[in-house]
This record gives sequence, structure tokens and C-alpha cells, in this order.
Amino acid sequence: MPRPKSAMEIFQLLDKSNCRECGEKTCLAFAGAVFTGRKQLDRCPRIKPEDRARFSDDTESGSAFEEGLETLGKMQARIAEIDLAAAAERIGADFAGDRLTLKVLGKNFSVDTRGKLYADIHVNPWVAVPFISYILNGRGRPASGDWMSFRELKNGMARYPLFQKRCEAAMKKVADTYTDLFDDLVHIFSGKQVEEQFESDISVVLHPLPRVPMMICYWKPEDGLASSLNLFFDKVADDNLDIGSVFSLGVGMAQMFEKLAQRHGFPEAASFR
Ligand code: SF4
Repeated sequence: MPRPKSAMEIFQLLDKSNCRECGEKTCLAFAGAVFTGRKQLDRCPRIKPEDRARFSDDTESGSAFEEGLETLGKMQARIAEIDLAAAAERIGADFAGDRLTLKVLGKNFSVDTRGKLYADIHVNPWVAVPFISYILNGRGRPASGDWMSFRELKNGMARYPLFQKRCEAAMKKVADTYTDLFDDLVHIFSGKQVEEQFESDISVVLHPLPRVPMMICYWKPEDGLASSLNLFFDKVADDNLDIGSVFSLGVGMAQMFEKLAQRHGFPEAASFR
């Protein structure tokens, strides 16, 4: 990791708006806090992903996913330090009482100003960490309608070369054997079957987070050709969510579909386990 040589070098990366979302009064104070190790660079939601990547420890550290459960606790503590109402406005979420609420795969997820999570269903870290990362760091850009593969997202393949195997191949295996999968995705997770994209046989759009839509395209086996399945993301996905969290959501959803297939159509499978 290239270590910044001075606080000024860090300061040059900041947008100098003094918005205070990092918990410091000014960008300069934040630069000093990062230089002395008191704060991590990714506490500033406005920093460009490429600048954040420049000063990351290695290829995967700094992502919300890889830091796991310990990170979840730290991230909840960070929620307590920010202006949650302002964050709700930035990402287009609802804010009422002391809670920010948004939909995750069609279900209500909330966090209060102390960082406590609320949901009607079981909350697994693979969804809780991206949920909080989206609130802390997301830019709230509206979906553009332009789809791209995971490898085309910034740092997608460089950091997560196993995405195809752990997400797309795993989902394809489920789709090949579980014929009701796509109907269930529409009904249980508030998905939407859309006009077939990229000449696929089935295209379904899901919203694991409101401004991070994912489109699953499935091509049935035909004339000796094997089936295939690809996931596409809106081109603003990596502005609204760190790439590690995008990976987390993709892999977590693949595992959830596998469990759903095992239970084959039982609605209580929709518990994000
Ligand atoms: S969040 Fe970023 S832009 Fe806002 S004050 Fe902190 S360092 Fe500056």
C-alpha cells in the first residue's frame, strides 16, 4: 500500500466541502485524522473509489464484505456518528422518528440513530453490511438504465475474480434444476420480469438495495448448447455501493437461492439466511 506522505496529500483527494459526514468539522481535520491513523479514508463518502483504492491495504481489504462481522459492529457505531436524516436524503431513503428505512429485496430494513438494525426477517451479515455501507458511503445516484457485467464495474474483476464461479455459476446451477426459481424471485423478493435483455430467455430485475438493481439473465439450453446465466448491474452500482458489498450481495443471493431451491417454494425461505 502506498502510504500517504503527508496530511496535505490526503487533503488533495477530498472534495473540500466540509460536509462533516466523516464526523470531522472540516476536510482538513479529516485529512489529519487519516494521516495519524485515527480515521480510515473510507469514512469520507465523497472520496473517489480510485483514490480510496490507491491507499487500500491490499486487493480486498477495505471492502465492506471481507471485514465480516467485526466490521458490522464498527459500521453500526459509525452510523451513530453521522447525521442519519441527511444520509437518508442523500440516498433517497425514508426517515421518520429516529429511523432510516429502505427496501432490501422488497422488505423493509431500518437502522436507528444508534446503529441498531430492525427488520421483520432474519438479518444476515451478507445483507446487513452492504445495507450499512450503502447508507454510509453511497452517493445515491439514480439508476441509469445502462447494464454492465460485474467485471466491467470499477475493480470488479481485479478484486473479486471468483465472482463468476461463486455467484453466476452457482445461480445457474439452481436455475437449471429449479424450474420455479424465476417466478419465486418475482413473488417473494418483489422482482420484476422484464423484456428479455441480451437475447436471453428470461430476464428478472431485483433490488437488493433501491439504487443498486441487479438483472439476472438466463439462457435455456438449446440445440446442444448449454444453458447460461449472467448477472448485470446498473452502471451506477459502484458509485452507490463499494465493490466488496456488490460482491457480497451477489454471492449471498446465490446461496439464498440454493436454500430456496432445497425448500422448493416455501415462502418462509425468504428469510435471507
Ligand atoms: S466527509 Fe469528506 S468531504 Fe465531508 S468533511 Fe469529511 S472529508 Fe470533507
